[in-house]
Amino acid sequence: SKFKEGLAKTRDVFIERVDDLFSRRKKIDEEFYEELEEILIGADVGVNTVLKLIEELRAEVRKRKIESPSELQPILSEKIIALLKGDEQTSLRMADSGLTVILFVGVNGVGKTTTIGKLAHLLKSEGKKVMMAAGDTFRAGAIEQLEEWGRRVGVDVIKQQAGSDPAAVMFDALQAAKSRGADVLLCDTAGRLQNKVNLMEELNKIFRVIRREVPEAPHEVLLVLDATTGQNALMQAKLFDEKSGLTGLVLTKLDGTAKGGIVVAIRQELKLPVKFVGLGEKMDDLQQFDSDQFVHALFN
Ligand code: GDP
Repeated sequence: SKFKEGLAKTRDVFIERVDDLFSRRKKIDEEFYEELEEILIGADVGVNTVLKLIEELRAEVRKRKIESPSELQPILSEKIIALLKGDEQTSLRMADSGLTVILFVGVNGVGKTTTIGKLAHLLKSEGKKVMMAAGDTFRAGAIEQLEEWGRRVGVDVIKQQAGSDPAAVMFDALQAAKSRGADVLLCDTAGRLQNKVNLMEELNKIFRVIRREVPEAPHEVLLVLDATTGQNALMQAKLFDEKSGLTGLVLTKLDGTAKGGIVVAIRQELKLPVKFVGLGEKMDDLQQFDSDQFVHALFN
C-alpha cells in the first residue's frame, strides 16, 4: 500500500528493532520493557506517550496473564491504533451545499503549498470543482509555486502580486469561487515565524473576510507539520494556538523520516485529528489518514 511505501524508512529501523526484541527475548521482564521503551522513544513516539503505552501493556500482561513477548506484539499494535484513533472525523468536513473553504496554516517549508496542490488533485479526481487562493503573499516564490501546481493539476489559482494583503486575495478568491460555482476553495497562507503577533492578526483578518463571505466557513483549518522535524513539529504546533481555530493536521514528509512514531506523539499531544499524511513529492503522494492502515503498514 501507499502507507507501506511511504513508511519504508520507519519500517527499516523501527520494525526491525521491534521484531528483533519480540523474537530474541523469551521473557517479559524489566529489561524487555526498558528496551521497548527505548525503541519507541527512538521512533519519536514521545516520552509521555511511551510511558502511557508501557503502562497499558503492563496492565494487559497482568490481566491476560501473558508470558511470552510474541503474545504481546499484536497487543502493542492494538494499543498504538487506539492511541491514534479519536472521536473526530478524519475525512474532510465539507459544506452541506455550496462552497467548502479549507485554510492551510503552518510555518514556511513544512510543505503547505505542495499539500494544497496534492489535495487539489485528489479532490479533482473525485469529481469536485476545485480552486486555489494564493494567500502566501510573503514567501518569495510561493505564488508562482501554487500557480505551477494549478497548471499541473488543471485548477484555477486566484492571486495578486507578491506583498499584497492576503485578506484581499481571499476576498477575490471567495468571489471568484462563488461566481464560478466551485465546490472547494483551498487557501494558502503565509507562515513567517518571526512575528507571531502579526501572523495571528493576519490570520484573524483572513477569518473575518472568509466568514463575511461564507458564514459557516472555513470548514477546515489544517495545520501542516513536517514530520522530519520530529519533536520540533510539536513546538511549532503550539505557535498556532487555539486562536487559530485548528480543526486538523496534515503531517508531511513521512517518507523522509525513520521516526514515523511522531504521528502517535502528535496525535496524543495535540488532540487534533490527523487528516492527511504526505508520503512523497509527487501529485498523488498525499494519503487520507487511517490509523488502522497506518499501523498495519508499520507492523506487517
Ligand atoms: P511551504 O513553504 O510550506 O509552502 O512548503 P513547500 O510546499 O514549498 O514544500 C517544501 C519542500 O518540501 C518542497 O521541496 C516539497 O517538494 C517538499 N515536500 C512537501 N511535502 C512533502 C512530502 O510529503 N514528502 C517529501 N519527500 N517532500 C515533501
